[in-house]
Amino acid sequence: MRAANQLVSRTLTEVGKLVKPGVTTKELDKVAGEFIRDNGAIPTFYGFPNPNGAPFPANICTSVNDVVVHGIPDETPLNEGDIVSIDCGALLNGFNGDSCYTFRVGSVSSEINALLKTTKEALYKGIEMAANGRRIGDVSHAIESHCTEQGYGVVREFVGHGIGREMHEEPHVPNYGKAGNGKLIRNGLCIAIEPMIVQYGREIYLMPDKWTVKTRDRGFAAHYEHTIAIHNGKPDILSSFEEIEKIENQY
Ligand code: MG
Ligand code: MG
Repeated sequence: MRAANQLVSRTLTEVGKLVKPGVTTKELDKVAGEFIRDNGAIPTFYGFPNPNGAPFPANICTSVNDVVVHGIPDETPLNEGDIVSIDCGALLNGFNGDSCYTFRVGSVSSEINALLKTTKEALYKGIEMAANGRRIGDVSHAIESHCTEQGYGVVREFVGHGIGREMHEEPHVPNYGKAGNGKLIRNGLCIAIEPMIVQYGREIYLMPDKWTVKTRDRGFAAHYEHTIAIHNGKPDILSSFEEIEKIENQY
């Protein structure tokens, strides 16, 4: 599980190096797909089934600005001040990696920086709660309360999930909920925790392509995701933002 997730993190790092004004998300997608395949893995998002439409046509999801999740890479160049959430999955030796990072395109407004900071903090607050003997609701509540305290909206229609041989397994890991509720967290459990947090209202809608999900009020959305394992009673983060953050700090 760690190897698959480290590959996803390295892919996000390679793609992140290219995120700048003028680049298209289609170019990012090509680099991601090649990197994953060159490392002996399969980009799991490619061809992912959609019960209401065509299978996902790309290797990564690229969700720009008011797109919350599942944005399809295209020929539109990114602009200074945009944000792009890049969600990536890879299957390596029978195990799944899944991680997402919201990148800044050049410099962004202080309002957007605050949204990104809070969403990433919420991810780690959720992870902290994912210890042996706690419950999924403890994770959910930690994420939700951190974001709503600062006036942000917490998307409810999409949630984190168990992960292993399949990309999406039980249990669901919502980003909202009551502490002390839900499934018991035990050693050996692997889950992807992924807050999807929006500037204003949490209402969303699905675009006619049947993938792209946008905020109703056009507020921007941030999305950070780690896959973790509960090991020796504690959360062990299998993916990593370390190299991505080093690149970011070079700006
Ligand atoms: Mg993901
Ligand atoms: Mg996921």
